[in-house]
Amino acid sequence: MKQKINLLIGFSAVVLIALSAIQYYLVKTAYEYKVEQFRSEIKEKIAKITNDYSDIDSTIFNKKDLLYKQLAENYIRDKKTRFHIKNQLLQSDFKNELTRKLQEEFENEVPDLEIDFAIVLDKFVIYDVTKEADTIFAEKPFIENKIYGNLASLDDAFLIRNYVGTTSGSLQQELNSDYKLLTEDTLYVSIQNWETIVLKRMTLLLVFAVFSILTLITLFVIALKALIKQKKVSDIKTDFINNITHELKTPLTTLSVSTKILERKETRENEAVFNSVLGTINRQNSRLQHLIDQVLTNSLGHQEIELHKERVLMPNFLNTIIADFKISNPNILIETHFHSQKTSLNLDKFHLTTAIANVLENAVKYGCKSIAVKSSLIENQFSISISDDGIGISKSKHSLLFDKFYRVEQGNLHDAKGLGLGLYYVDQIIKAHHGTINVVSDLGKGSTFNLRFSI
Ligand code: ADP
Repeated sequence: MKQKINLLIGFSAVVLIALSAIQYYLVKTAYEYKVEQFRSEIKEKIAKITNDYSDIDSTIFNKKDLLYKQLAENYIRDKKTRFHIKNQLLQSDFKNELTRKLQEEFENEVPDLEIDFAIVLDKFVIYDVTKEADTIFAEKPFIENKIYGNLASLDDAFLIRNYVGTTSGSLQQELNSDYKLLTEDTLYVSIQNWETIVLKRMTLLLVFAVFSILTLITLFVIALKALIKQKKVSDIKTDFINNITHELKTPLTTLSVSTKILERKETRENEAVFNSVLGTINRQNSRLQHLIDQVLTNSLGHQEIELHKERVLMPNFLNTIIADFKISNPNILIETHFHSQKTSLNLDKFHLTTAIANVLENAVKYGCKSIAVKSSLIENQFSISISDDGIGISKSKHSLLFDKFYRVEQGNLHDAKGLGLGLYYVDQIIKAHHGTINVVSDLGKGSTFNLRFSI
């Protein structure tokens, strides 16, 4: 059964992980699709604005063409270094003006988006008709070649469009040469917080995905908990049936043997033997009665227990219980540390005596040699602690200890008899008194039971 449950847990966990992975993959694909959709939307919007440079400001773009031309001619005239020409291109006087103009245009046309942009020059090639083409530069796009714009990096930027321009000119007077200029520049745009915008558009899907996975995990945990609890309950019931059968067997066998002995004529004729067998029958009978009482009384819930409260003087009450306990357990060393002040509490004497005796008897049953009983009065709380040096209880069992019929599996080492009702009864009695009980213990380290009542 345990193996089956483990297998079920393992299998369900794998299915859960697989479902989460599929969910993650679907969300990721949807995100990529949304990004692509957003990118083409932006492309379309911005392409409309910048469709024609002259729409923005013809004079400024003419100035740019003029600058290209001027630099090309300067280059043909005195062949300044390429580096020098490139620098002049990139640090043109129009840089700021063009940036501002285009920025204003974006702000007017798409006020809901904060757009950073850059026009990056990729190519600057001069064709001198008489000579071969002279490439001043042709590079992969990178932000350092920005001729204007306010974008600082191309990393997250969308490529909107490429502009390829050709200009013709002639320098006939001095050099008698016609030339053509080929330029290529690209517009990159980056939308501030574009991830947030895309994620916002996916909110419903994300919420649904997270919600469905969380629901699935919660259902899985609830189902597992119910399964484990059911298994525990069924184990506890089986244990209880085994224990009670074992407990009933001895007196019943003795009773059946005794009646057989009584049936014999010789027994009936011998008064001494007859009385002794009768005594055995009586003892076994009361043992059976005691067992049944234990099951009936001790398994009552705290709401069903009827308390007959009376004023009880502490620590005198504890002293009486310990004195009785000493008589039946002369080999156990009992130490007491009671609070000095006399305190009177409103308690059910009978039930509380049985509860405390249960804890003391458990200490003996589970291997102790000595017990320490302490009482203290802190603020409005009266507390009794009972510590023993017995086998102790592993921490993992503490939460189950006060459950009905629960017994810690002891293996074959400490085959102490019991029905798993003792601590349940103690807990119910303390609860009926509106008190609390807890245990401090670990395997091999003894146990301490702390009982607390409000005064
Ligand atoms: P029972 O003694 O009939 O088994 P209880 O309800 O009295 O049932 O106790 C529940 C379990 O708690 C016991 O089976 C035992 O393993 C453990 N236990 C209780 N008291 C002690 C103790 N003082 N030291 C070690 N184990 C204890």
